[in-house]
Amino acid sequence: MHTMEFKKSQRLENIKYAIRGPVFEKAHAMQNAGIDIINLNIGNPAPFGFNVPDEMVQDIIANIKRAQGYVHHLGIFSARKAVMQYCQQIGINNVEIEDVYIGNGVSELIVMCMQALLNTDDEVLVPSPDYPLWTTAVNLAGGHAVHYKCDEDNGWNPDLADIASKISSKTKAIVVINPNNPTGAVYTKEVLNGIRLLAEKNNLILFADEIYDKILYDGIQHIPLASLGKDTLYVTMGGLSKNYRAAGYRAGWLILSGAKHRASSFIDGLTLLASVRLCSNVMAQYAIQTALGGYQSINDLVSKKGRLYKQRNYVYERFSNIKGITCAKPEGALYVFPSIDLSQFDFEDDEDFVLKLLVEKHVLLVAGSGFNHTDNHHFRLVFLADVDTLEIAIDRIEVFLDEHRV
Ligand code: PLP
Repeated sequence: MHTMEFKKSQRLENIKYAIRGPVFEKAHAMQNAGIDIINLNIGNPAPFGFNVPDEMVQDIIANIKRAQGYVHHLGIFSARKAVMQYCQQIGINNVEIEDVYIGNGVSELIVMCMQALLNTDDEVLVPSPDYPLWTTAVNLAGGHAVHYKCDEDNGWNPDLADIASKISSKTKAIVVINPNNPTGAVYTKEVLNGIRLLAEKNNLILFADEIYDKILYDGIQHIPLASLGKDTLYVTMGGLSKNYRAAGYRAGWLILSGAKHRASSFIDGLTLLASVRLCSNVMAQYAIQTALGGYQSINDLVSKKGRLYKQRNYVYERFSNIKGITCAKPEGALYVFPSIDLSQFDFEDDEDFVLKLLVEKHVLLVAGSGFNHTDNHHFRLVFLADVDTLEIAIDRIEVFLDEHRV
């Protein structure tokens, strides 16, 4: 009889995903035991009653028979053409149809890019806090995610001096998540130009994760990073999961622009990886053209009468009035990332706070450390729930904080 364990690879040794990590497992076990949990932990619009626009569903149904076979590894023509035309609308220049890659969500494309780009010990500058898949994907590819600071005291904008100080001979790229998950920040042109200049000067690729580019409040403008330059390679990512509430369809895209002529080897690698996974989910690709053209229902949701706008305001106002909590007003996306003044409470750190809140009040959040933020006193709340549910959740958080005040 063999007794040796079957072990995971060493590559996974330092890889975590807090959004679905131990606290999430605990919540799952509580739910299985019949306890109702208010889940404000995942940016998944559908369970909160945000539906995919009917027209997209109709187009998938109309094309479902045509979606049986594998298609081109980079995606179907109509989807790629629609993304190319979207680039023309938003000012990303010189994008041809062969510069557009369709994937099973931005997630798959992030992993593919890092696999295609990195050699062992190469470095990628990733924001802190980040959407943690970026860190995971870099490390999984054998590289090192080096975290640059996004400054809470400066509207969570990337700290340019910190980025500059962390560029080394091993740095290959800078990742910019804008609008940002988890902070809700939308970056100014000055900051984006600052990052662009650093990338140009140091010959770094710019990865722009812009999956929330239409989820903007108070009329703020989103500036696509790739619209600002052409002297380095830009890899812009977007998809159906957030703007179009179709997270389960698994459809996203990647756009190459700028100094493509200097990137043929990386692009070959990316194309190779796209072809070895054959193609991305075909049914969902039939919704992309419909999504990007015509009426944009997301605009209603973020406008002054819209659900997302009201929920964002509600959450921000509530947290702004809780002693010991400070909270920046989200300008985009679906999240708040408040800070807890740990000196006022008996929590050890952000994870202790989140776990106790779950156990005692049945509200599920994610600790800031889950986003590679190291100061251990933040948490992320997803404001997709309706105001009535948010009210119940935040009432419970308020009582909970009072119970733990020192
Ligand atoms: N990028 C960011 C910043 C996200 O917040 C998310 C999901 O929450 C993703 C990428 C993943 O998106 P997709 O559903 O397209 O894989």
